[in-house]
Amino acid sequence: MVKCANCAHEMADNASFCPKCGVKVSPQTETPGRRTPASQRLVYPRNPPLSRHIALIGIFLPGVPQLIIGQQLKGVMLLLAAFIAAGLAGPFGYLGAAAVAVVDAYLISGKLERGRPVGAMEFF
Ligand SMILES: [Zn+2]
Repeated sequence: MVKCANCAHEMADNASFCPKCGVKVSPQTETPGRRTPASQRLVYPRNPPLSRHIALIGIFLPGVPQLIIGQQLKGVMLLLAAFIAAGLAGPFGYLGAAAVAVVDAYLISGKLERGRPVGAMEFF
């Protein structure tokens, strides 16, 4: 049995309309072969969970902890951002970008450690 999203009336799993209020039931299963955009993809916690201390790798290699976590696109973006910041503002630019990357990796891996899935492009 599934519940109507509109009126919470219980109905058959294969019903396409709610018999009580007539609202169209959205399909529960995703269409196979359709790719989920990176921004909507989720990274699920691992068992055993990764330690949030991997965030410290980001001091030397900003974005790499995010790559390890599973946020590949975000990790590459942070790595590029650190190089660009270094080019624009020298060591201080690099350290600023690295600090942001470390704090982000620490908070994101903390969420995963607590068993909460995070978005593939979720920050902090
Ligand atoms: Zn209904």
